Amino acid sequence: MSIETINNLMEKSPANWIDDYFNNHELHKHAFRDLVCRVQTKIQKIIIVDTYNYGRCLILDNEFQSAEADEFIYHEALVHPSFILHPCIERVLIIGGGEGATLREALRYKSVKRVVMVDIDKEMIECAKKYLPSFHTGSFDDSRLELVIEDGRKYLERINEQFDAIVIDVNDPLEGGPSYMLFTVELYRTVAKMLKKDGILIVQSGAASITENDVFTSICNTLSKVFNHVFPYVTYIPSYALQWGFVMATGNPGKLDITGQEIDDRIGSKITGALRFYDSITHHAVFNLPKYLRSDIKNQTRIISDKDPLTEHYPGISNHK
Ligand code: SAM
Repeated sequence: MSIETINNLMEKSPANWIDDYFNNHELHKHAFRDLVCRVQTKIQKIIIVDTYNYGRCLILDNEFQSAEADEFIYHEALVHPSFILHPCIERVLIIGGGEGATLREALRYKSVKRVVMVDIDKEMIECAKKYLPSFHTGSFDDSRLELVIEDGRKYLERINEQFDAIVIDVNDPLEGGPSYMLFTVELYRTVAKMLKKDGILIVQSGAASITENDVFTSICNTLSKVFNHVFPYVTYIPSYALQWGFVMATGNPGKLDITGQEIDDRIGSKITGALRFYDSITHHAVFNLPKYLRSDIKNQTRIISDKDPLTEHYPGISNHK
């Protein structure tokens, strides 16, 4: 949606509305109370609004990223299944994650000694620090953090460090957007070399609905060309009105098969603060994919590559560059 359209809506509607397009034929609208921030950076268009139903929401290039009311579902789902299964997470790399909420969840682990977070957009981080305090909860000030402002792909190709967990939490691969070169088989090969022996990669992988799962299933298939063990999982995100996909990948799943009791014991001993979404019951729920989705993953043949990257086009997106 263009800024002119937002302005028109603000003038004409009894409430202000912000659009979240799924594709050319489906749209989810949120009524909002206040426009908190609207900035066109060199990288993307940032909009932050206070919605009636989901509190403060971040929208990048017209795509909903996260909402105050349910971001805990997305961010706990992104981080905890793999961090809990790993024997001892000490070194973490986050690519993207501008709100600081992925960082917040990673820093809960008492064993974590170092987190490098690489985000391409300095102004996104500044907006998050200023306008999204309930998302980052002060995590940007943690002494274990090294914050790098750089394209994640360039960072991964220039750095020679190994991590226990690498979390790729970037925007969906939009045409003309900043993130689509972070979803290719070449990139995943680079990441694989940066993981320690028991290391785990986690990728936020887009919608996993019945009509929209091409990004998710293509990521699963592409990761399976690099990693011996790929575990897709899903959960419903109310503010997206969609089931969302995540993929965990590792070369060494030796220690991943633990009981529900062990999961809950580890949550009790390894994490500071209380979780609201993730526990052993949720763990088993998210990995139990419905039959149609398992079948779509199995039938997906696409390998995303540098020469043939996967990009999506959403209506309402003007050339934001
Ligand atoms: N939850 C989100 C979603 O639904 O897609 C993703 C989280 S987050 C807000 C996306 C972050 O990725 C933003 O802060 C953006 O600046 C960052 N980002 C996008 N492309 C990137 C790149 N090439 N390298 C590093 N960070 C990138």
